[in-house]
Amino acid sequence: MEIRNLVCRFGGRTVVDDVSLTVQAGQVTCLLGPSGCGKSTTLRAIAGVEMQDAGEIYVDGKLICDTVFRVPPERREIGLMFQDFALFPHLSVADNVAFGLKGGKDEKRARVEELLGKVDLLRYVDGFPHQLSGGEQQRVALARALAPRPRIMLMDEPFSGLDNRLRDGIRDETLAILKEEDAAVLLVTHEPEEAMRMADEIALMRRGRIVQQGAPYNVYTRPVDKAAVAFFSDVN
Ligand code: ATP
Ligand code: MG
Repeated sequence: MEIRNLVCRFGGRTVVDDVSLTVQAGQVTCLLGPSGCGKSTTLRAIAGVEMQDAGEIYVDGKLICDTVFRVPPERREIGLMFQDFALFPHLSVADNVAFGLKGGKDEKRARVEELLGKVDLLRYVDGFPHQLSGGEQQRVALARALAPRPRIMLMDEPFSGLDNRLRDGIRDETLAILKEEDAAVLLVTHEPEEAMRMADEIALMRRGRIVQQGAPYNVYTRPVDKAAVAFFSDVN
């Protein structure tokens, strides 16, 4: 996926200011920056639920939206996972995962079981969300987002609702599954530690702009300015 010169304004305020980014299949790019810098707005524009004021988005070289042309959100082959992206409480675990799937019953069931196997929750296939812990629900949400084989996964602080003790383990498991599924992943976080742990590439964002981009080690060891040093200082 490639984003070129994306701009989003609210009122007179430019919240996303000329953002360009490329995310490769099988790679995790972290959009990292402090609260209010425009991370979620960038993600929403890519998902197609926010209108951009300028810029283009391409998937596999094909334009999916600019300021005139727009592929509707449901046809973008994008998987979404947000902190509060809740499961449907009245649907079983299997039906939650099957929700966005097309095709025959057996085919859908096979994909559901494949994914629930990957997140190690096959035993809950006929259970309901309220019977699962927060971490288990998060893994079902991951399975649901990945089930239709999205080319692109957009994840907005997907681990922030989790218990500290669980978070590292779930980050690692999630990363392994994302790699297996070979999606291009854009993961939003305001935690440097999470970006260092999960990213192949970090794009550091501040006040709507990407101020630095590169491999985690390079971004961490060669911060672009004093503000970047301060921002990274809580990684240990
Ligand atoms: P956080 O880490 O706190 O989630 P963020 O980087 O995701 O922050 P955004 O949600 O993208 O930040 O918001 C960027 C700025 O745009 C904020 O100042 C926010 O108030 C403003 N903003 C976002 N959506 C709208 C909207 N629909 N209308 C007006 N202002 C908005
Ligand atoms: Mg946000």
